[in-house]
Amino acid sequence: MEKKPFVSRAQLDKIARQYPTPFHLYDEKGIRQTARALKAAFSWNPGYKEYFAVKATPTPAILNLLKEEGCGVDCSSLTELMLSDRCGFEGQDIMFSSNETPAGEYALAHKLGSIINLDDFTHIDFLQETIGEIPETISCRFNPGGIFALGESHEGFQVMDTPEDSKYGFTREQLFEGFRKLKAMGAKQFGLHAFLASNTLSNDYYPALAGILFRLAVELQQETDCQVAFINLSGGVGIPYRPEETANDIAAIGEGVRREFERILVPAGMENVAIYTELGRYMLGPNGCLVTKVLHFKHTYREYVGVDACAVDLMRPAMYGAYHHITVSGREDAPHDHLYDVVGGLCENNDKFAIQRPLPKIGLGDLLVIHDTGAHGHSMGYNYNGKLRSAELLLREDGTVKLIRRAETPEDYFATMVFE
Ligand SMILES: *Cc1c(COP(=O)(O)O)cnc(C)c1O
Repeated sequence: MEKKPFVSRAQLDKIARQYPTPFHLYDEKGIRQTARALKAAFSWNPGYKEYFAVKATPTPAILNLLKEEGCGVDCSSLTELMLSDRCGFEGQDIMFSSNETPAGEYALAHKLGSIINLDDFTHIDFLQETIGEIPETISCRFNPGGIFALGESHEGFQVMDTPEDSKYGFTREQLFEGFRKLKAMGAKQFGLHAFLASNTLSNDYYPALAGILFRLAVELQQETDCQVAFINLSGGVGIPYRPEETANDIAAIGEGVRREFERILVPAGMENVAIYTELGRYMLGPNGCLVTKVLHFKHTYREYVGVDACAVDLMRPAMYGAYHHITVSGREDAPHDHLYDVVGGLCENNDKFAIQRPLPKIGLGDLLVIHDTGAHGHSMGYNYNGKLRSAELLLREDGTVKLIRRAETPEDYFATMVFE
């Protein structure tokens, strides 16, 4: 699939005259469309709700947009809870899925009335000691262990991930014991959650995960007599970062989950179970980009294009060797007949947005669009080398642009330092 930026050269030139590069730009129209398509895909389930994973894009304007589209939020830390509270999310529209949780975070999650999703069996007592009770609605995270394989590929089963190596969640046995214990301590409605693979480019991931969780929910409800009220498929639906990859079909994913629901939960009399999701990347990833200006060319053993953004604005390439597509604004269709390394200015040799990438001829001052940075982009920013995090802008549906987070200033950098 050809990757086109959601913003034209003329628009970008205008925006860059008002706001200095680098900046992250988000597309309101795309965000709303994505949220609506997801909601439509699960509209067969009356209790369905998306709890947007705040860590992907913790920016008030983005959270407010998603709130308008009917989403809740999934938080994993004190400040994410505080942010959600300040954005007006309330009660059970907040999911709290954390691990190695400090007591104060459970206390705030409880005070806000959010749904607490426990990561471990020992947290049952810890929660009781911290907040003085077990909430009526409680959720537990499942880790099936082993490997998580999906369908047949030409080399056998496609291995998605190895839950056994992951630090998250209860074992199967702990879940049965945990549900019984929680019920005895006052819980009345139970949720089940699992996150088995990240950035999956397959319409089969959610249905396969749903199958595992639905079967387990039936057994749990039958054996422990605990009422399973919701099943949370968590995050993990991916996006095509590379142009040769195919996007997931969210309608097909919703339909695949519905088939498992009809096959497993309905015959067990569990047709009232609500389906929840906690997508981050799928919701925001393609609806944001990082815009950066070309500052320098360097000709040594390779052709380097030096830009004004660096890994503190987008850590994924440096951290995971992740691919992010790059287009030269206004020259999207020009022949890609040059090979460049596109690099930022950190004193770290992994600060490279692209390595040996075929691109059109680039000129000084050109604006480069680094695609798919709307999730886990700005939010992973840091201050290494004294670099300051960039601004975030929202391209609204009417074509105007709004500053939704200012760029950091040196004052922000010095704010936590003690000089004497
Ligand atoms: C990170 C995270 C998500 C979102 O993951 P994506 O890959 O962005 O969809 C959802 N739930 C939990 C508990 C997470 O930690």
